[in-house]
Amino acid sequence: MPEICDVAIIGGGVIGSAIAYDLSSEGRSVILVDAAEDLGLGASDAAMGGILTQTETACLGPLSSVIRRSRDLYEPWLGRLKKESGVEVNVLGGGDIQVALDRQEMDRLISEVLPRWVQAPFEVRQLTAAEARDLEPLLSDRVVGAFLLHEELALDPRELMVALRRAIGRSSVTLKLNTRAIRVDSGPNAAEVVLADGSVIQAGTVVVAAGYLSGRLLPKLADLIFPIKGEAFDLRPPGVTGYPLDHHVFAEIDCGDERGYPYLVPRHDGRVAVGVTYEENVFDDTPTAKGLRDIRSWTSTVMPATADWSLERHWAGLRPASPDHVPIIGYVDEHQRLLAATGHSGLGVTLAPVTAEMVADLIHGRTADPEFQERMRICSPDRDFTDPALSPAPTTL
Ligand SMILES: Cc1cc2nc3c(=O)[nH]c(=O)nc-3n(C[C@H](O)[C@H](O)[C@H](O)COP(=O)(O)OP(=O)(O)OC[C@H]3O[C@@H](n4cnc5c(N)ncnc54)[C@H](O)[C@@H]3O)c2cc1C
Repeated sequence: MPEICDVAIIGGGVIGSAIAYDLSSEGRSVILVDAAEDLGLGASDAAMGGILTQTETACLGPLSSVIRRSRDLYEPWLGRLKKESGVEVNVLGGGDIQVALDRQEMDRLISEVLPRWVQAPFEVRQLTAAEARDLEPLLSDRVVGAFLLHEELALDPRELMVALRRAIGRSSVTLKLNTRAIRVDSGPNAAEVVLADGSVIQAGTVVVAAGYLSGRLLPKLADLIFPIKGEAFDLRPPGVTGYPLDHHVFAEIDCGDERGYPYLVPRHDGRVAVGVTYEENVFDDTPTAKGLRDIRSWTSTVMPATADWSLERHWAGLRPASPDHVPIIGYVDEHQRLLAATGHSGLGVTLAPVTAEMVADLIHGRTADPEFQERMRICSPDRDFTDPALSPAPTTL
């Protein structure tokens, strides 16, 4: 006999967990299936934790209205999560400082990026080098100017996953860990998930949030979803117990033939997460000596003091990417029972609350709001993935 529920969710990363949490809060019976031994062990635990409004290039296209919604939802969503989980997810306000280390980069930011920043529905303020160093005294003397992206937030994604795990554990969600889904199917009356042990879950809706592996379950996405490997690690400055920096800091720098993307995100317990590398279509999530060396070199260019900080955890993860770096959210079958929620690239933590809201609204039939319809259109699985207007340059985070 199949197990029966309203909604079966495949994948318990930040996306599947956020969806399970929101749907069960609204009284739906939910089964959440993950192949790993715990929730969040895919890309989600590997994220830097920027709630990005403008830093990512993908933020600046049509996705900006979806990001605006997620940014607005974020703090109330975390408040609710704290009540239900008992876990406080610490959030750093103050924004992101994007610095330029030479005149050429500052000119690029002013001529190419600033016009897009001012069109996006978020604040941006140009800073002189002195103003940037007033805000973050450890910035390199080489900084020639910067921009403050004031509305960006940052959190520790592993702390977010602890809160989601706890809230899901206390909810009515049936959690199946160490459980791999091998097939999904749909008919006019129900959808089905076939598990590796041969058992079957029957549901009104099946949500596939299986990260970069989502295309293996949904043939329609097979050629669309691919992994982008990213590495990062934690540094700890000596003697610091609170946030070591007041902002997160990002830069694009020239390193010979390549560009480097130093990104520093302070944590409330004195660590600074630093990253990130970006390798498309790499399926191996092992951290490497090259990743470590590159990130250390980029980071100490932006903030020389980091060269002396002690190294803690070093990790890698596989971002689930789509061709235009915009998530794929929507039904993918003729019966409207198989729902994709994947392809968030470098923005899955940023977009978790809005993705959960979009999926819940769709399942509950709350579809009349024109803004909801616009968000669904932007993330539609049926969009033209080759349309340049919808395809910002590749992401870097
Ligand atoms: C280095 C790095 C830095 C990043 N920084 C940021 C950032 O600053 N801000 C931001 O917003 N985002 C960031 N991201 C991106 C973010 O981590 C991802 O977008 C997000 O975690 C994707 O979540 P997910 O739930 O879709 O996928 P995942 O977390 O990968 O979860 C997918 C889950 O599906 C499960 N699964 C897969 N196949 C099956 C199956 N057949 N059966 C059962 N379970 C299955 C896996 O076990 C996994 O737990 C970063 C990512 C990396 C790697």
